[in-house]
Amino acid sequence: MNIIIYPDEILRQKTSPIEEIDDTVRKNAEDMLKLMYKMEGVGLAGPQVGWSKSLIVIDASGDKEGERVFINPVIVEDEGILLSDEGCLSFPGITGKISRADEVEVVAYNLKGEQLKITAGGLLSRVFQHEIDHLNGKLFIDKMTSASGLSNAQKLKELEQRYRKVRAS
Ligand SMILES: [Zn+2]
Repeated sequence: MNIIIYPDEILRQKTSPIEEIDDTVRKNAEDMLKLMYKMEGVGLAGPQVGWSKSLIVIDASGDKEGERVFINPVIVEDEGILLSDEGCLSFPGITGKISRADEVEVVAYNLKGEQLKITAGGLLSRVFQHEIDHLNGKLFIDKMTSASGLSNAQKLKELEQRYRKVRAS
């Protein structure tokens, strides 16, 4: 399992929901968590590992405890607004300022198929919004402030060129 880097088109596709929690789902979730920790990320979404399914893994505190796998997550409520820096494992070297809801309420399922209702604030809220965007083919570059977009334009172009080169070779 590897991180899919921008501008791979799978990152732009809307994922399909998970209908059954089988061995593949369990194995992929476990591998995604391992990869997330290895890359020192706080969240990872299915499309980022080439799996177009509605599953995200999150550990905003990095303490490897509690619910960390969220299946078919949906934001049901959001409140407030906060501008803060964000990065993404699919965009190495790029960070930018993005406005997100300050607090969100998320409904999802865990690997046991139990429904979870999570109220998240701070970094956790931001990570949920970022990862759920991935499930809908939305990327953080779409939401950056124009100043951040401008300052990252050259780096984005380099990622696009590198991708085309890898494709051509
Ligand atoms: Zn991301």
